[in-house]
Amino acid sequence: MTIWNLGSINADIVYSVPHIPSPGETLASTGRAVFLGGKGANMSVAAARAAARVAHIGAVGADGRWAVERLLEYGVDTRHIVEIDVETAQAIIAVDTNGENIIILHQGANVKIPTHVLEQALTQAETGDALVFQNETNLQVQAASLAAKMGLRVAYAAAPFDSGAVMAVLPYLDFLILNEVEAAQLKDTTGQGPQDIPVKDVIVTLGAKGATWFGPDGPINVPAHKVTPIDTTGAGDTFTGYVLAGLDRGQPMLQAMQMASKAAAIMVMRRGTADVIPDLADVQSFSD
Ligand code: ADP
Repeated sequence: MTIWNLGSINADIVYSVPHIPSPGETLASTGRAVFLGGKGANMSVAAARAAARVAHIGAVGADGRWAVERLLEYGVDTRHIVEIDVETAQAIIAVDTNGENIIILHQGANVKIPTHVLEQALTQAETGDALVFQNETNLQVQAASLAAKMGLRVAYAAAPFDSGAVMAVLPYLDFLILNEVEAAQLKDTTGQGPQDIPVKDVIVTLGAKGATWFGPDGPINVPAHKVTPIDTTGAGDTFTGYVLAGLDRGQPMLQAMQMASKAAAIMVMRRGTADVIPDLADVQSFSD
């Protein structure tokens, strides 16, 4: 089976700074590094690392060829990532000596994915395949409705949260995953708690408290592993990628979540995002 991921691809450009600059201040950085990022890319890498077949649907500019090559190296099918005449999305991140950060996100090519690229990709989808998407690209409603019509399993990671975006795709979803903050935002804006949402499987991730599955058997919590976190960036994306890969492999939800919980625990002990997502062998040999 294939997991089709309509997802963002970012260049995360991380500047080390002595302090977070004030308005009007010019500040020299003490270091600069560029990483592959974006929730979409992270999820594709996570699912591919978890041994699933993953086809990423997205767009970059000519400045993003390296990112596509990196995805390919990590085992992601990149044939449905197009190069367009718009710059690749960038997250400009400044991190100070206390680990405090500011982020400027330029969405660029992520929100200019041509409709025909999505349509053409999904014509190749087969029964049993899944579609996943997040809230960092255009074409979310089109993707969800087309995939639902084709009978694919439709999964949505509602991040960054936008209640309008969630409500627009809700009728098409089989699976919704939110973190604790996003679940609270959904409750605030729509009055719906995770148990009220009319989607077959809803997962709320709770950081060090694990993740709760609201499915046919009521809420079930899968605890997190007790580890000392160094950098929690990408934990949620890794968790989601691993859950989807497990389901794709035919595992029951709880088993897929247990594997995802291990993968995310390894992830929080590593600095970085897509480039350090653990593979299945790492996860299988993990014990705390
Ligand atoms: P997000 O990164 O989207 O905010 P969470 O913080 O809820 O998502 O984390 C996702 C998953 O990562 C959790 O359900 C848990 O399995 C794992 N995780 C996150 N933080 C920790 C932690 N401090 N210790 C162990 N596991 C963690």
